[in-house]
Amino acid sequence: MKSIVVANWKMNPASLRDAKKLLESTRKVAEVAKNVSIVVAPPSLYLRELRAAYKGKRLSFAAQNAHFESEGSFTGETSLPQIRDARVTHVLVGHAERRAMGETDEDVKKKVHAALDAKFTPILCIGETSRSSGGEHYVYVRQQLSGALRDITPTKLASIMIAYEPVWAIGKDTSMGAREMHEMTIFIRKTIVDMHNGAGMNIKILYGGSVDEKNAADMLINGDVNGLLVGRVSTQAARFASLISVLADL
Ligand code: PEP
Repeated sequence: MKSIVVANWKMNPASLRDAKKLLESTRKVAEVAKNVSIVVAPPSLYLRELRAAYKGKRLSFAAQNAHFESEGSFTGETSLPQIRDARVTHVLVGHAERRAMGETDEDVKKKVHAALDAKFTPILCIGETSRSSGGEHYVYVRQQLSGALRDITPTKLASIMIAYEPVWAIGKDTSMGAREMHEMTIFIRKTIVDMHNGAGMNIKILYGGSVDEKNAADMLINGDVNGLLVGRVSTQAARFASLISVLADL
């Protein structure tokens, strides 16, 4: 089966030299795993050089964040045109770690729109911070989706990927259960169909949160997702290679 894996390197590794090594091992696994589309999201400082050095066709590249304005007085930020100029095609939007630093639903909405206008594939990250038995997390997820996807045309909707990442499962020892994810996948798809009718049916949904080589296959099959967003394990070459080879055999 086909799948998508987004490799979010976060703020790692510490040197360009190590980033090149990591990209080389990622390149090798991508060559073999023909049914897995890998999107690598390195730190922005490495992005241009890694993208320029990559001559293959199997990997895509993503920025981990971008500003919604295309230029101006925004110290420390990176613009979509700058990322485009580095021949990068995808951008993470609203990652939980950025929301924790103060990014609001309104910022996320602006970023999704700006990314689509600039012809990027936005990977929209959503997910509740905690769960209780009352099911409030569904309300929360619906709010995040309707905030970010308001006023988007059906044609543009097709270019978006949704990464559901429950914050309580990011950076932990175990992922969320695949059955619970299945329920969430249905809920996300239904919410988007309610907003945008049939155009929402084919939207790509990924799961993220402590994915590793042991739980990846179960999540992909039983969680009914199109792919996975992998953080820490994507920076550990040997573990990432086994994760991808597990998916390649599905
Ligand atoms: C992430 O970076 O979005 C993530 C899910 O991280 P980890 O796989 O380390 O939990």
